[in-house]
Amino acid sequence: MKTVQEYDLVVVGHGAAGLAAAVTYAEAREGARIAVLERAPREERGGATRWTGAFLRVTEDRTFDHEWPERMRRVSGGLADYEYCRLLDREVPTTLRFIEERGVRLVFEEFPFAHTFDGGPATMHPPGRPEGGGKAIVEALSAVLERTPGVDLRYRTEAVRLTVSDEGAVDGVVVRGTDGLLVRLAARDVVLACGGFEGSVEMLTRYVGPKACDLPLIAPGIANNRGDGLRMAMELGADTAGQFDMIHAEPVDRRTSSADAVIYGYTDGIFVNGRAERFYDEGRDTWDNTFEHIGFEIWRNQDQEAYWIADAKTLAIPGWESAVLSDVPPERADTIGDLARRLGLDAEALEKTVAEFNAACGPGEFDVRRLDGKATTGLTPPKSNWATPLDTPPFIGIPLTAAITFTYGGVRTDLDARVVTPAGTPIPHLYAAGELTGLFYHEYPPATSVLRSLTFGRIAGAHAARQA
Ligand SMILES: Cc1cc2nc3c(=O)[nH]c(=O)nc-3n(C[C@H](O)[C@H](O)[C@H](O)COP(=O)(O)OP(=O)(O)OC[C@H]3O[C@@H](n4cnc5c(N)ncnc54)[C@H](O)[C@@H]3O)c2cc1C
Repeated sequence: MKTVQEYDLVVVGHGAAGLAAAVTYAEAREGARIAVLERAPREERGGATRWTGAFLRVTEDRTFDHEWPERMRRVSGGLADYEYCRLLDREVPTTLRFIEERGVRLVFEEFPFAHTFDGGPATMHPPGRPEGGGKAIVEALSAVLERTPGVDLRYRTEAVRLTVSDEGAVDGVVVRGTDGLLVRLAARDVVLACGGFEGSVEMLTRYVGPKACDLPLIAPGIANNRGDGLRMAMELGADTAGQFDMIHAEPVDRRTSSADAVIYGYTDGIFVNGRAERFYDEGRDTWDNTFEHIGFEIWRNQDQEAYWIADAKTLAIPGWESAVLSDVPPERADTIGDLARRLGLDAEALEKTVAEFNAACGPGEFDVRRLDGKATTGLTPPKSNWATPLDTPPFIGIPLTAAITFTYGGVRTDLDARVVTPAGTPIPHLYAAGELTGLFYHEYPPATSVLRSLTFGRIAGAHAARQA
C-alpha cells in the first residue's frame, strides 16, 4: 500500500480528546507534522463534543469535585481506575486554563434544581459549562490548529487500521478517503480519540444486548463513533476497561428529533410507563444522580415508552424551562384525564396512579433547592423526596424515550494515556484518550466526560511530544 504522507503525530478523532492532544503536541514541538483525522465533513466536525452543552463538574474557582475519585470507587465497586480519577482531579485546573487561554469562556449560570456537582450535599451553586457548549471547544481548538503550519485537518477521512513495525511498534494509520481507496499515513506516534461505539448497532448488540437497535442517538454527531478505535487497538492486543454491557442513556422528549432534548427538571412530578404505572423512585436523589438510571430503565425494562407528568407547581419554579431542553412545550390539560388523552395514555389508569400517589404523599415542605425529605408512605415504588400531590392545574406531560449518549467499555491506558496490554505493557507509540477509553462501571457520575477527554488528550499529546 502507498504511504502518502509522513507525520510526527496522527490523531484519530476531532473531538475534545483528539483536539487537546493535537494542540498540546503542536505547541510543544514547533514545526511538527500533525494530521487530525475526522470521518465527518468539516461543517459537522467534532463528534459528541460538538453537541454537548457540557456541564463541567467544577466550581468557579476552577477546581474539580475532589470527592469524585472516592465516588467513582464507590459506585464502581472498586473496579474503576482510582489513580486515573485522582489524576483527573489534579489536572482539571490546568485543563480549564488550557481551554480558557485558547478562547473558551466558562460560565456559571443559575440552574433551577439542586445538584451534587460540587461533591457535597445537594446545592444550588450555578454549575459550570463553556459558553456555547462543547461546540465552542471544538471551534477554539480547531482554530489553533488551522493557523499552525504543518497541521493537516483531514475531513471525510476514516481510520481503518493501525500499521506496526516488525517489532510491533505502531508506525502509521491506514485511512480511506472520499475516493474509497486505502492509503497509509506514516506516523511516529498515534493518538486514538475516536469515541465509543454508540454509533454501531452491531457492537451495541454484541456488548450491551438485545434491543440496542431501539436506542436513538442523542445527537447526530455520535453516529460517527463506531468503535473503530477499540477494534484497532484490540487487533494489536490492547487490554480493555469499563463495563461493556452498560451505556449512558438519558430520558428525552419523544416528540422531537432535535438533539439533546433531555428532561432534567422532573423533580416535581412522576414518571409512568405505557400502562400509566410508576416504575422508579423519582426522588431517590438529585436529577444528576438519577437521570441516567431513568434513561436506562426506560430502554431496558419499559419498552422505550415513558411519560413525565407534573402540575402547576413545576411551572411556578423560576427558570424550570432551562431544565427541560425540548424545543416542544409540554402537553397541557386542566384535568389528569384530559392530559392522559392528549398523551395517548389510558385516562382511568393515569387517574388511578395519580390518585394513589397523591394519597401517599407525606407531610413536609416541598423544596426543589435541597433533598427535602418529603416522601411517600406505603407506595411502591416510593418517591423519597419532593413527593407533593399532583393536584394543581394545569397538568403537564411529556412523552419520553431513552437516547444513548455514550458507551462505558473501551481500551485501557496507563496514566500517560498509553494503550496497554493485559500485562500493563504500553504498546509502543500508541495512545488513547476520551470516551474511547473505558472507565465507568454501574454509574456515570456526570459532568466529567468532557473534562476527562480534554485532560487525557492533553496528557497523550504532552507525553508523545516529550518522547519525540
Ligand atoms: C448531547 C450530549 C450531551 C452531553 N452532555 C455532557 C455534559 O453535560 N458533560 C460532559 O462532561 N459530557 C457530556 N456528554 C459526553 C461528552 O460530550 C463526550 O463524552 C465527549 O465529548 C467525548 O469526547 P471525545 O473526544 O472522546 O469523542 P468525540 O467528541 O465524540 O470525538 C470523536 C471523533 O472521532 C471521529 N471518528 C470516529 N471514528 C473515526 C474514524 N474511524 N476515523 C476518523 N474519525 C473518526 C468522530 O467523527 C469525532 O470527530 C454529552 C454528549 C452528548 C452527545
